[in-house]
Amino acid sequence: MSPAAVLTPPPAAMRRVVIVEDEGILALDIERQLSRLGFDVRGVAGDCEAALVLIEREKPDLVLMDIRIQGPLDGIETVLKLRERFDVAIVYLTAHSDPNSIERAQQTLPMGYLLKPFKKADLQNVVTIALARDGIERQLRRREELLRTTLSCIGEALITTDEDGAVTSLNAAATTLLGPQPRSSEPRHLREVLPLKRPDGATFGVDPVQAAQASGRVDFEARLDTPEGQRSVVGTAAAVRAGLASYGVVLAVRDLTELLLTRRQLEFSERLSAMGTMAAGVAHEVNNPLAIVMTNLSFALREPLSDELREALVEASDGAQRVARIVRDLTLFAKPQPEALTAMDPRRLLTSALALTRGTWRSVCGVDLSLGPVPTVMASPMRLSQVVVNLVINAVHAMQGSSRAALLTLSSHTNERGDAVMSVLDTGPGVPAALHERIFEPFFTTKSTSQGTGLGLAVSRSIVESHGARLTLDSTDAGARFSITLPAAPRPTPTVVPTVCWIGPATDELRRLGVAAVPAEADAVRAELAARPNVVLLALPPDEARRLASSVPELEDHFILVTSHPPPRGVVRLVPPFDLMALAALVR
Ligand code: ADP
Repeated sequence: MSPAAVLTPPPAAMRRVVIVEDEGILALDIERQLSRLGFDVRGVAGDCEAALVLIEREKPDLVLMDIRIQGPLDGIETVLKLRERFDVAIVYLTAHSDPNSIERAQQTLPMGYLLKPFKKADLQNVVTIALARDGIERQLRRREELLRTTLSCIGEALITTDEDGAVTSLNAAATTLLGPQPRSSEPRHLREVLPLKRPDGATFGVDPVQAAQASGRVDFEARLDTPEGQRSVVGTAAAVRAGLASYGVVLAVRDLTELLLTRRQLEFSERLSAMGTMAAGVAHEVNNPLAIVMTNLSFALREPLSDELREALVEASDGAQRVARIVRDLTLFAKPQPEALTAMDPRRLLTSALALTRGTWRSVCGVDLSLGPVPTVMASPMRLSQVVVNLVINAVHAMQGSSRAALLTLSSHTNERGDAVMSVLDTGPGVPAALHERIFEPFFTTKSTSQGTGLGLAVSRSIVESHGARLTLDSTDAGARFSITLPAAPRPTPTVVPTVCWIGPATDELRRLGVAAVPAEADAVRAELAARPNVVLLALPPDEARRLASSVPELEDHFILVTSHPPPRGVVRLVPPFDLMALAALVR
């Protein structure tokens, strides 16, 4: 601000003056002089009380205040009282420069002093300068307020430092990004408040603040460790300079974490959807010739055949069925066209995920399948199967490194609100409490790059939530349980009546259901399998079941045991109580 600007006479609107002076003749003289100089004198008061009443009424721009006035309060105390209610420029009138009074007066931030006796020119200068200075200070305060409000509205984090790098201010977005800052009387260095690292995690050789101080302004890309986790940021650091002097640095930082994650998630889901489309294409191509093979095999099997030929054809038919199942499961990954929700029994998600992941779990663990009754739900079977497959694979990975006996439990039940709950439980080490939420973040993985991408649970949660459902975790150090809670559909699905092959002793329940029990003998089982039941259940102890499976290899595909023994590796055990018909419909 140039001195000329300061000395410019105040505008007419800023010339209202009140005089507080108890020497009547002097007050009159000042009033006359000021009026002649063009100021608008709104009144004279002789003591504190009268001054406060006058000032409240007249709202002057400036008060000429005698330090020594009559009454219980002197001029300085009167100004202190005044300051509680009004923002007005003060010029003190004093007969002598008593250092004590001046020091007290100084604390009330006056705009100037007039030493009595004074000349007309002194009066004019002091009052003019005081009013001009007050006008400028008001303007500065207004600009500062405008700037503060603007900064608080900006979405980018803004941080200012002094020339030594000590933080002088943070806007609201910076506090959101960095978390609440500790109150400290000591200045905190920017390095401590904003711990920037290079995007690869290495320390900056020359940090952005130093670079800005050297070159005026730098743009940077960085990684930021916050209490909420790592953030990817970009920013600009600019030195605040006046001439050659540097007063500090302003940093504007933008958090790109969500944007980058969304972009990567999008790329990933595009890749998944491309894979799905390809799988659907392959399935379509395979299905037609496969149907021909299966029809012809079943036609040939109805003819009289030598035992050898029959055995070969049964084997071929079994292989073809297996291909059909794989093809069917592959299509689960295809993006539905259009992505409509269908009414389904959600337990099907568990059985189909088990079949799809057989290669992953068979050498690691046995499976307990506990299919309690659940309501029908509205879902995209393809997308939700993808979720259960991911949960099963994660469970198997967790158990691979664990010293405890490996057992995977897939179960379903209806909760107290009537929702269907599907759970995948393992006997791995569980998820530490501190990671319960983080494991759902995209790219969070504790696995090696060859085994994990960290996308599985993030994508799973978004798929589940797009069904109006929830994906939750309960974990102890005895294992992790992931559950999908799906709201019940308005209408139930029609029941599919399956064909069941029960190998083992007959029970009343079977008789009631009209299911024939097949004795555990290779020939009888083979003959029964040739009729292609939807589901084969072995009600045998595991060793006996294994013996039978080794002499009837096609049983391998249907290895579901109904037994009280724990399932050996590679075997699914059906945990009672179960609904036989429902299970058969599911496995179909
Ligand atoms: P990825 O399997 O590629 O790592 P996910 O998003 O599926 O990605 O899983 C993220 C992380 O969650 C895993 O790296 C692992 O640390 C943890 N996690 C997931 N499932 C389990 C589980 N059943 N038991 C223990 N930790 C698990």
